[in-house]
Amino acid sequence: MSLQDITSRISHAEQDAGRQPGSVKLIAVSKVQPNERVEGVLKQGHRCFGENKVQEAAGKWPDFKDSFDGVDLHLIGPLQSNKTRQAMELFDAIHSVDRPKLAKAIARIAQEIGRCPDLFIQVNTGEEPQKAGVLPSETGAFVAECRALDLPIKGLMCIPPADEEPSLHFALLAKIAKRNDLAGLSMGMSSDFERAIALGATHVRVGSAIFGERVPA
Ligand SMILES: *Cc1c(COP(=O)(O)O)cnc(C)c1O
Repeated sequence: MSLQDITSRISHAEQDAGRQPGSVKLIAVSKVQPNERVEGVLKQGHRCFGENKVQEAAGKWPDFKDSFDGVDLHLIGPLQSNKTRQAMELFDAIHSVDRPKLAKAIARIAQEIGRCPDLFIQVNTGEEPQKAGVLPSETGAFVAECRALDLPIKGLMCIPPADEEPSLHFALLAKIAKRNDLAGLSMGMSSDFERAIALGATHVRVGSAIFGERVPA
């Protein structure tokens, strides 16, 4: 696969679903990928990337941002409270807001620095004990809590259980988002982004299908 293959598959999926062309944003997930591969995708003109670790992203993205204008960087992995400030300075969007303590830290730092990344609340749609995210039944209350803190909540994010049909989870996330008047849906990865687009994804997070298998560090 290549970047071009993926963008063309996204266009077809938008069309098949009767969605507006360009309504789905492709987040190229560059975690653990060698810098040459990331640079190759930047040189093709793509600017929206996802990383799942603050430390790793902080090690490579300041240099890429110096060389390429208009980088749009998304944090898609868990965020420890003590890395909140660093994450807010580096990322344009955070997809893993999942607890009141973190929401309060983001609100406080946003006041201090005068800006805030776009935020997505991660929902643990499969109710898996080992997975981050708020439970579906608790999402409404957490959205309200974030709104009371004036946080720019753009939507919801999920990572479906590995062994279940993802469409059920995408549909559930879309339903919870609609109920809470949220337009953004961060869902769909290499193996299922077309199904996510059919169910309303606005942001798909695609790594290995663009860059190839991840090479362990
Ligand atoms: C790694 C990762 C992805 C991308 O996974 P691929 O299967 O390589 O497309 C998407 N979302 C999250 C949260 C990830 O950690």
